[in-house]
Amino acid sequence: MPSTSSRSPRVAVLGAGAAGLCVAIKLLEAGIDDLVILEKSDGVGGTWRANTYPGAACDVPSHLYSFSFAPKKDWTRKFAEQPEILSYFEGIADRYDLRRRIRTGCEVRRARFDEDTAEWHLELADGTEVIADVVVSGLGQLNRPYTPDIEGLDSFGGEVFHSARWRHDVDLAGKRVGVIGNGASAVQFLPPTAERAGHVTLFQRSANWILPKPDREFSARERRILASVPFAERLFRWNIYWRLEKNFFFMRRGSRLGKLIDRMASKELRKLVSDDLPAEALIPDYPPGCKRILISNDYYQTLLRPNVSVELAHIDHVEPGAVVTEDGTRHEVDVLIFGTGFRSTEFLAPMEVTGRAGADLNDAWATGARAHLGVAIAGFPNFFMLYGPNTNLGHNSIIFMIEAQSRYITRAVRELRDDGLAWIDVRADVMDRYNTRLQKNADGTVWVADCDSWYKNEHGVVTNNWPAFTVSYWKRMRDFRSHEFVRRART
Ligand code: NAP
Repeated sequence: MPSTSSRSPRVAVLGAGAAGLCVAIKLLEAGIDDLVILEKSDGVGGTWRANTYPGAACDVPSHLYSFSFAPKKDWTRKFAEQPEILSYFEGIADRYDLRRRIRTGCEVRRARFDEDTAEWHLELADGTEVIADVVVSGLGQLNRPYTPDIEGLDSFGGEVFHSARWRHDVDLAGKRVGVIGNGASAVQFLPPTAERAGHVTLFQRSANWILPKPDREFSARERRILASVPFAERLFRWNIYWRLEKNFFFMRRGSRLGKLIDRMASKELRKLVSDDLPAEALIPDYPPGCKRILISNDYYQTLLRPNVSVELAHIDHVEPGAVVTEDGTRHEVDVLIFGTGFRSTEFLAPMEVTGRAGADLNDAWATGARAHLGVAIAGFPNFFMLYGPNTNLGHNSIIFMIEAQSRYITRAVRELRDDGLAWIDVRADVMDRYNTRLQKNADGTVWVADCDSWYKNEHGVVTNNWPAFTVSYWKRMRDFRSHEFVRRART
């Protein structure tokens, strides 16, 4: 018989971004109130706190990029910009009284499970320790900027920074700026950068599929309707959800829709081809969806500006005041900006995580990160993840996935509490079977086509994306199956 009077397990949530906030709210609602949120930075918001580059905005419509249980009905535009999104998550922390539970400036270096006491020992960067019964990582996939190790970079002499650590103190006015990378972030910061800089050289390895962004401001009337007409906001949200959900059809290998986009977009892009902007710079040589499909209304116009040039030769090295490409050309620049993405396939690294019988997560994930449903890893009891392996999306809102995961994890922690358990640990055979099926599905997606993307690791294994409709994930996550876990009673 479950004893609902059992004490709340002590829960440590890592990260005060969207994921950490969401799971904290769901745990508190379930009465699991011995909870602390350990945040490395100085505040709330995660990626929306870190990424302040000019033009930063979400490429998922805001009404769906917000919690279903805490809708914001007065978004100013369809695709909100970073300050409005950050302010939404800060407001969530206030509304749910989470700030008193958040310890900022806390970087967890090591997490070690003690089997004798069934406790997690979290070692912080300042040498102190936090002890918890349950650890929930809200670190996600995109929290560690990746800067390639380019020969001679140390000798450059000018300012160098990554887009996720934008240096607002560096005035780009009139400067010669080198931008390395042209992914989701660069597509957003390149246009405002080109407006300010004297000249921008974009070092591009491969072109992206970029579609028009159906963005605009909401009128005062629209906002009134969304705020006051019963169910208007709900219906609007669901409309966005299903419109995006159908885009998973693109993600299927050989999809007819994908081929149609390829044909139509290539035809439009060929109109922009010139001596300065060859087809190779504009038209991707891989199917749409293999990498994230980007949206922008000003990116191609920016490439056509007289003060912007696209360099397709690969970078060989950097020397004082210049980037030298493999064809021997010396490109003189004053500032270098890396839009080179994140260490997305490394997940929890560099944190060291040690589970049962001294199991090391780095070893367990040597050939690629894997988990059960993206949230639990065999051998690591009472340790859960949000936005973990194979839960990223190329077609819908990650907030939807995070909510499903938060409910599932809350259900697991409730079981610990109510059944008087010391720990639960997903069975290795369950996790293996799940991943075999998942990889079979991934094989049927366009992500395995011939393109480099952060959706797969260096072995070509799709470690990051959920290879199906999100509705099937949602359905599966509603069903917490106790028999899939080894359960150890509290002694
Ligand atoms: P990204 O999409 O991974 O793009 C990285 C770029 O850097 C690519 O153009 C890549 O070239 C280039 N690159 C990587 N290593 C390089 C090297 N050694 N030398 C030269 N170029 C190199 O990274 P991101 O733009 O930061 O975006 C990452 C993810 O963050 C997105 O996919 C998205 O999920 C998220 N994001 C979301 C939004 C949003 O609106 N919600 C905005 C920004 C970012 P190749 O393509 O040739 O490899």
